[in-house]
Amino acid sequence: MSSPADNPNTRLFYIGGRWVEPATLSLLDVIDPATETRVAQVAQGSASDVDAAVAAARTAFPAYSASSHTQRVELLRQIVSVYQRRMPEIADALTLEMGAPITLARGAQIAAGVLTANEAIAALERFVFEQQRGSTLLVHEPIGVCGLITAWNWPMFLTFLKVMPALAAGCTMLLKPSEFAPLSAMLFTEVLAEAGVPPGVFNLVQGTGPVVGAAMTAHPGIDMISFTGSTRGGIAVAQSAATTVKRVVQELGGKSANILLPDADFASAVGKGVAHCFNNSGQTCVAPSRMLVPRARHEEAKALARATVASIVVGDPRDPRTTMGPVVGQAQFDKIQALIMSGIDDGAELVSGGTGRPEHLPRGYFVRPTVFAGVRNDMRIAREEIFGPVLCILPYDSEDEAVAIANDSAYGLSGYVQGADLERAHRVAARLRTGTVNINDARGDPSAPIGGYKQSGNGREKSEAGMLEYLETKALLGYQRG
Ligand code: NAD
Repeated sequence: MSSPADNPNTRLFYIGGRWVEPATLSLLDVIDPATETRVAQVAQGSASDVDAAVAAARTAFPAYSASSHTQRVELLRQIVSVYQRRMPEIADALTLEMGAPITLARGAQIAAGVLTANEAIAALERFVFEQQRGSTLLVHEPIGVCGLITAWNWPMFLTFLKVMPALAAGCTMLLKPSEFAPLSAMLFTEVLAEAGVPPGVFNLVQGTGPVVGAAMTAHPGIDMISFTGSTRGGIAVAQSAATTVKRVVQELGGKSANILLPDADFASAVGKGVAHCFNNSGQTCVAPSRMLVPRARHEEAKALARATVASIVVGDPRDPRTTMGPVVGQAQFDKIQALIMSGIDDGAELVSGGTGRPEHLPRGYFVRPTVFAGVRNDMRIAREEIFGPVLCILPYDSEDEAVAIANDSAYGLSGYVQGADLERAHRVAARLRTGTVNINDARGDPSAPIGGYKQSGNGREKSEAGMLEYLETKALLGYQRG
């Protein structure tokens, strides 16, 4: 199998059903975060490439938006089938470009694409597109041409999360993947081409946020933007999109609290909380990065967290024994180091890890898995999204205080509650101002919508709620004679 880095499509974009040369060739380096070396170069686009892709998507819209739901279900099933065949090479591309350990890349990272696609198919089959109310007919129609902008941390999950409901709704689209994950996006595009997505329905332009992303958000030919990324990026996108009054869906950052109630099974909950926070090197929007424990059990939580961290194997992501790879790049590495230093300076207690690389890894963007205890919620490490393997343990004195600390955040993406008394856990969950709450380590439900309150975003993905973002609602009054 040849490497995606050698694929000629790295220098091309997919527009109007063909791999085409960019308007002007300019190259962007793809750096392997485990070695800090250049492994590929991809073409980076310009506003002219965005214009060409939008024109192709607009041309394709009338026919594709008129396709039947049965035809779209068939198309989505075909995409899943081709994707499943190509999963091994896409997983390898993920490891190369963003450093996911190969077991994670071949496991949850790649499988998330299938789960998400299958749920989009189920949502399409469940969706009620027309509803008669009295003499009025309510119709959901595709919104038009969609601009899809994704982050690099779960590349296939985030791409399927947008492309599948957009296709299901009858929209046409332009995808700009993260400049840190262009190789998997190129292979994903090959999957769609092979699956028979009609020309112009799906288009790919690679490149940076300030150039390609900004051209998309301001473009009058794009009807909606679905953006996944940082809150800083989401704000820029919304500001730029405002002049054309397009719909903007924002899936942004998080600083999620994991409340361990006094009756929680600490022996299990602390370890699982640490593992969940550090999965994917802590680079997950919903990572439970603030662990709230009753003050009386603070010492116990520290000891359990230290023991869990000791079992983490940081190293070469291509080695199947590795459980934590590098973080994605130099800027992210530097940001994480600065935040660990700020935790030390602010007087948080370092339980594990600290600044610098693990001793056996002098090269690569490897971070020491770090746990702070005795953290106050006004410290930078408790307020800012670190997006690296850094966990804060915060002691609390009462249930009310735990809820207040959890909600005292600019973010509102996710919450976690652990406790034996389910009624009490429900009560606490109801008070959290977040888009999702996981009770007692409940794992992902592909049919549950995700999205944020507050500065974690606007809108939802997955399920019928996710589909609605790609649809307009039309009311046909007097449709039926009274
Ligand atoms: P980022 O904001 O730097 O970039 C995200 C995407 O936006 C990239 O494709 C980038 O090129 C593009 N972009 C950046 N600036 C832009 C601009 N001005 N205009 C248009 N596009 C622009 O974020 P990142 O580092 O790639 O991803 C990490 C962030 O994503 C974290 O904050 C994480 O929490 C968040 N995230 C959120 C979710 C969610 O569902 N809520 C899921 C995954 C990641």
